[in-house]
Amino acid sequence: MTNTTRNKNKIGVCPYCKHEWTYKERLLGYVIKPRSRTKCPKCGEYLEPSTMTMVYEYLAITLVLIFVIFIIPQAPWLHWTKVLLSAALLLPLIFIFIPFSVRFEKQVYNVKKK
Ligand SMILES: [Zn+2]
Repeated sequence: MTNTTRNKNKIGVCPYCKHEWTYKERLLGYVIKPRSRTKCPKCGEYLEPSTMTMVYEYLAITLVLIFVIFIIPQAPWLHWTKVLLSAALLLPLIFIFIPFSVRFEKQVYNVKKK
């Protein structure tokens, strides 16, 4: 094991221009957009989330989906309780966990070549 692949990027910082993404920029420019279209709002370079960011995201999303799809519907609660609980799990994931854990990397493949 070497340290060559260790990612020292800070959370939400552009690797090109060191622009620190605001919360709004992360939410609008990263969370709700396709990952291949993540673009720095300051320098316009295409970015991609680091591998660890994606691993954590997929793990968190999978866990929440398992709860929302398989476990919560089995519970003997009222319908609105299930809806509330599902939202209580999904919303913090989308609005807090992902925006505050994303680390950007330079995109390996050039999507646009002139
Ligand atoms: Zn930038």
